[in-house]
Amino acid sequence: MRYSAFSILKQALSGNRLWTPAWREPEPKPHYDVIIVGGGGHGLSTAYYLAKEFGITNVAVIEKGYIGSGNVGRNTTIIRSNYMLEGNNPFYELSLKLWEGLEQDFNYNAMVSQRGVLNLFHSDGQRDQYARRGNAMRIEGVDAELLDREQVRRLAPYLNFDHGRFPIMGGLLQKRGGTVRHDAVAWGYARGADQRGVDIIQHCEVTGIRRENGVVTGVETTKGFIGCNKLALAAAGNTTTVGRMADLQLPIETHVLQAFVSEGLKPVIDQVITYGAGHFYISQSDKGGLVFGADIDYYSSYAQRGNLATVEHTMQEGVTMIPGLSRAKVLRAWGGVMDMSMDGSPIIDRTSIDNLYLNCGWCYGGFKATPASGFCFAHLIAKNETHRVSRFMRLDRFERGYALDESGKGPQPNLH
Ligand SMILES: Cc1cc2nc3c(=O)[nH]c(=O)nc-3n(C[C@H](O)[C@H](O)[C@H](O)COP(=O)(O)OP(=O)(O)OC[C@H]3O[C@@H](n4cnc5c(N)ncnc54)[C@H](O)[C@@H]3O)c2cc1C
Repeated sequence: MRYSAFSILKQALSGNRLWTPAWREPEPKPHYDVIIVGGGGHGLSTAYYLAKEFGITNVAVIEKGYIGSGNVGRNTTIIRSNYMLEGNNPFYELSLKLWEGLEQDFNYNAMVSQRGVLNLFHSDGQRDQYARRGNAMRIEGVDAELLDREQVRRLAPYLNFDHGRFPIMGGLLQKRGGTVRHDAVAWGYARGADQRGVDIIQHCEVTGIRRENGVVTGVETTKGFIGCNKLALAAAGNTTTVGRMADLQLPIETHVLQAFVSEGLKPVIDQVITYGAGHFYISQSDKGGLVFGADIDYYSSYAQRGNLATVEHTMQEGVTMIPGLSRAKVLRAWGGVMDMSMDGSPIIDRTSIDNLYLNCGWCYGGFKATPASGFCFAHLIAKNETHRVSRFMRLDRFERGYALDESGKGPQPNLH
């Protein structure tokens, strides 16, 4: 079924009796050309582009929970391409361009909203750093504007401009950045992949990876053994546990990140705004809730829930940036498990096992990467060749000493 204004009208006139499920619920076949472990944004977009761009349709996405139960449905929905490094910027810009045409492409309303992302700065040194980032973006043809304090005030008068320690001096604005309704992204990619013949197998956990003579032959699952020619891992926060099934030791640690949403308020925050003197980001959803988050919890865990110390820390940062936030009630908070890499950048690569492919290390910035990650991973799986824009995201960069450390924090995953 194709969604359109006409199809909505048709449904309305027929009492909404003609809707069909957005994707099938197939039983797994004994064998696939490609199996993707993980039905998050990255696994589903990989399947979608494998089918759409490379004509590989005998594909299964195996998901232990339900579609959208992982980080793809838990994030704060921010998309942007305001990266500085050569290894990152063209990749995230490809992603932003794919976001821009995504809804028409997969015929699903993902509520892509390019409302702008504004990063605040609070000192001369930080302004110089942001100017450098903005210049690097513009050299790559990416939009960036350095705003002074008064320009920021016009956009967001409710910010605390005169904080004693961290006065707001200006901001770096990327107007094409914004938000996307996160679970609709999972649903849109799932539907698009399913329509092209991909089997999406929910509630099926991969429990082992079978290898014969050094190559992967399939996966053991809670629904039995499923064979494949190529196996692709896109398990995000569970990357290390899944990788261990193939004896992979990966430069990844899993940490929890929490997010929060307030009661619905009248429109007040028009952009995504991030605090430069700490780490806090906020936007307002279409329902009116303020959606915000801060740092990861500072210890490793696979539990999809966070600790109270980080709740307090997040609220402190939020209220420092927007004093009025102290009067809003928080409705809900939740956590997701992040695949934090040693340099804060992702890995899209083959592994030492020929037909085993790896997509991980998204830390807490992987949602915005969903389209480009799927596109580049599909390219790698289909052609056995790294896509040009993901060529710096190789697994062996840690051995070679070519870290892709955007924020310059060193090999400490919980700082990225
Ligand atoms: C609170 C929070 C806020 C965030 N905010 C942002 C943001 O604003 N912008 C941004 O760009 N990024 C953000 N992120 C990061 C982003 O959500 C992730 O980097 C990205 O979603 C990870 O990729 P994914 O969607 O494929 O992950 P997931 O949705 O987690 O997909 C991985 C899937 O693998 C499945 N799986 C794991 N093990 C197995 C197994 N053994 N068998 C079968 N299936 C398995 C899991 O169930 C899961 O569904 C945020 C994350 C969180 C938690």
